[in-house]
Amino acid sequence: MRAILLVEDDPILGRGVKVGLEVEGYTVCLAKTLCQAREVFSHQQFDLILLDLGLPDGSGIDFCQHVRELNSNIPVVILTAQTDENTVVRGFDAGASDYVKKPFGSRELHARIKAHLRSAPFSGQKIEFGGLLISIEERSVQFNGEEVSLNRRLFDILVHFVKNAGKVITRDGLINAIDPNVDIYDRTIDSHLSQLRSKLKKCGVDSVKINSIYGIGYRLES
Ligand code: CA
Repeated sequence: MRAILLVEDDPILGRGVKVGLEVEGYTVCLAKTLCQAREVFSHQQFDLILLDLGLPDGSGIDFCQHVRELNSNIPVVILTAQTDENTVVRGFDAGASDYVKKPFGSRELHARIKAHLRSAPFSGQKIEFGGLLISIEERSVQFNGEEVSLNRRLFDILVHFVKNAGKVITRDGLINAIDPNVDIYDRTIDSHLSQLRSKLKKCGVDSVKINSIYGIGYRLES
């Protein structure tokens, strides 16, 4: 089942969109403020974000930027009545994938969501990468049918790498993705990565490599 984070403070619209999407078979989490959106996004996996811009504690653009700073590829569809060119450009600059102008018809919204999800990996299902089979929901990793046992932090790091495979991930991006609320020093990141590399090596995973890009960060390659 595909999971959608809906960020919308208008109670009638929020409720209407949520119910409409649930009828279509999606799981929908409704956040009414930026603060709530940040909170649930840090703890749950989603496949797509629907984002209102005018929220009681700030602009949805900030949340969009926050999501992209975490190096997340998740599709972000902005729902807004503000469709002047400047706002639209600002939204795309912040990393939005699409705009839907309010008021919108539910069929158009559902069609756009479907189009974006077609190319996005499932959060609730298994991701395959270089022979690794990762279940986000069960928080488990397998290689050649054998369990690769990883603690919470190493699992989060691996998932973040796999979701951004082939891209350079900065240290800050990695720290933010793991836990933005905890101070993690550079050396701790090095130690996590060396643990992760050695765990993968121990399980015979030679098809996946976390390469260090000197002075910038890391890149996962298969
Ligand atoms: Ca609003």
